[in-house]
Amino acid sequence: TEALLLQSEKLSVAGQLAAGIAHEIRNPLTAIKGFLQLIEAEQDTQKTYFDIINSEMNRIELILGELLILSKPHALKFEKKNIKQIFDQVKALIDTQAIMNNIEVEITYLSNLQTLLCDENQLKQVFINILKNSIEAMHNGGKITVEVDTTESNQMQIRFIDQGCGITEENLQRIGQPFFTTKEKGTGLGLMISMKIIEKHNGTIHISSENNGTKIEVTLPLTR
Ligand code: ADP
Ligand code: MG
Repeated sequence: TEALLLQSEKLSVAGQLAAGIAHEIRNPLTAIKGFLQLIEAEQDTQKTYFDIINSEMNRIELILGELLILSKPHALKFEKKNIKQIFDQVKALIDTQAIMNNIEVEITYLSNLQTLLCDENQLKQVFINILKNSIEAMHNGGKITVEVDTTESNQMQIRFIDQGCGITEENLQRIGQPFFTTKEKGTGLGLMISMKIIEKHNGTIHISSENNGTKIEVTLPLTR
C-alpha cells in the first residue's frame, strides 16, 4: 500500500471552530454532570437512565477534552529538548496499557542527533496518540518498534511500526479527517490533532500500511 502524505488543508476548518465550541460546551456540561450526580444520589429508582446519561456525558467530555488540545494555537512553548528524554516519559505513560495488552514497546536510537526545538507536551501528545492507536490495533499482542533516525536531508525521523490489523486503502484516504473512526468508542480526533501539532512544528506525517501492520513516519526539523 502506498504511503500517504497527510496534508494540512484537512485541518484548518475543523481545528479552530471545534476548539471554540469545545470551550463553550464544557462548562455547562460540567455543571449538568454535577447536578445529575446529586439527583442520582437521592433517587436511584431510575438507575439505568442515569447510567445512560452518565456514559453519554462522559463521551462528550472525552471528545471535548481532545478538541481542547487545539484551542491554544499561540500558547505553544518551543524549547530545545532531547528526543530520548521525551520518549522516556512517553514510554512510562503508555507502558501500563501496553503490558495489559501483552504488547512490548521498543524504542531504538539509530542516530546521535537528538535535539529538537519543540513544545514537549504537544509532541508527547502526538506520540501517545500514535502508540495508543497501535495498541488498539494489536488484538493479539506483539511488538511496537519505534526507530529514531536521521534522514538524508538531515531531519529527525521517528518511525512507529506495529503488528496490528493494518489500514485498508480506502480508510487510509480518510485518516486525519475529523471524526473518522473505525472504533466503537473512538473519537476520530487523535490523528487530526497529531497532524495539526506536527504541522506547527514544521514536520510531516506519513502513514503506510500492510496487512501485517502499520508504519507511521513523523519527520521533524533537527536543531543544534
Ligand atoms: P480513534 O483512535 O479515536 O479512532 P484516530 O484519529 O486516532 O481516532 O484514528 C483514526 C482511525 O485510524 C482509527 O479509527 C483506525 O481505523 C485508524 N488507525 C490509526 N492508527 C492505526 C494503526 N496503527 N493501525 C490500524 N488502524 C489505525
Ligand atoms: Mg486514536
